[in-house]
Amino acid sequence: MSDSAPLLILGTGLAGYNLAREFRKLDTERPLCLVTADDGRFYSKPMISTGFAKGKEADELAMQSAEAMAEQLNAEILTQTRVTGLDPATRRVLTTQGQLAYSDLVLASGAEARRLPWAEVLGERLLSINDLGDYARFRAAVAGKSDVVIIGAGLIGCEYANDLAAAGFSVRIVAPDTQVMAGLLPPEIAEAVRAGLEALGVRFHFGQGVRDIQPGGAGIRVTLEDGTLVEGQQGLSAIGLVPGRALAEQAGIDVAHGIKVDRRLRTSAEHIFALGDCAEVGSLSLMYVMPLMAAARVLAQNLAGGDAELSYGPMPITVKTPACPLVVSPPLTATSGSWTITGEGADRRALFKDESGQLHGYALTGALVSEKLQLNRQLPPWMP
Ligand code: FAD
Repeated sequence: MSDSAPLLILGTGLAGYNLAREFRKLDTERPLCLVTADDGRFYSKPMISTGFAKGKEADELAMQSAEAMAEQLNAEILTQTRVTGLDPATRRVLTTQGQLAYSDLVLASGAEARRLPWAEVLGERLLSINDLGDYARFRAAVAGKSDVVIIGAGLIGCEYANDLAAAGFSVRIVAPDTQVMAGLLPPEIAEAVRAGLEALGVRFHFGQGVRDIQPGGAGIRVTLEDGTLVEGQQGLSAIGLVPGRALAEQAGIDVAHGIKVDRRLRTSAEHIFALGDCAEVGSLSLMYVMPLMAAARVLAQNLAGGDAELSYGPMPITVKTPACPLVVSPPLTATSGSWTITGEGADRRALFKDESGQLHGYALTGALVSEKLQLNRQLPPWMP
């Protein structure tokens, strides 16, 4: 394919749009095309787990239309157009609207919500929320209802629990784990978060997986492995996200958890790059905003003729559970070490140090979240 074909970005989430913006700061002329399966509206995805408490409809969370973005970026934006295949040899992608040629292709296809086996049969009764369209659908499904059962006690399940409970819903969380955010938080910190959510009215059913989910009344009837029944007028599935790697995999591009890229954001196929939730840099598959912003700046330089390499400093995560403010920096750089917990009640501090006393991670709750800047200075970079 000739180099007069556009730079093509697959995806108009924060990764796709941030890359386009960074690229246009460096190159105002090169033809640029973005393609998306959704309506291409620009929005900040983190806002969808605080939308109920703020009383926001999906349309109110959208910040710009695809048309406005196209004009601002001097780009063509193809909406409602699903990419169904990649052909790296001829530098073309296949879409539901026909073929598109590219000079360089950037995969910014995000991540998909894992689906429970009952989701299809249960339809609107059991939804997941991973984009603005999902949020609109969930708001419509829950209208007139007063209680929600959330399956999953991870970061996103807890954020939705806080948001829905703060908006007046009765919320129950069902999870096989014994604590919230297992794998991310030490138990003492998880306990503070749980207590904060319980004080808001959230109830937990921990330690039992889901055996079955059936329709019940207007909502769902969840049977846990020990036979306990949990009923709710609306189900919300929050059991994790999987990087959108299928197109790359089918095209023979190297994938692991996500689409594998080097520090220049290059995949194993020539002229194809990846960033955002779909990408894995080195062995890091980091599905949040700070890493994709850093990647967008580096990739924009390289697509504009530069030769930049990505590095990551520490990137702590602020979890949106105002019932118990929480910031956590997982100890990704540690090969060994342990947590030390101090503080009490809602205000707790967990520090992860190795044998030499080097700090590798922390988790802070309540009033102690203010210590994060000082602790950040002591953390080693995640990818020097
Ligand atoms: P997405 O936003 O998922 O965009 C993917 C794009 O690819 C979409 O335009 C989609 O239509 C398109 N696409 C996919 N497949 C195809 C195809 N085959 N054909 C055409 N188009 C396709 N991060 C934080 O840092 N802080 C937070 O507080 C935070 N809160 C969050 C709360 C929630 C509820 C969720 C779900 C995530 C949160 N995150 C947060 C994570 C953060 O929002 C994501 O890391 C980020 O938005 C990912 O952007 P992306 O562009 O990679 O993916």
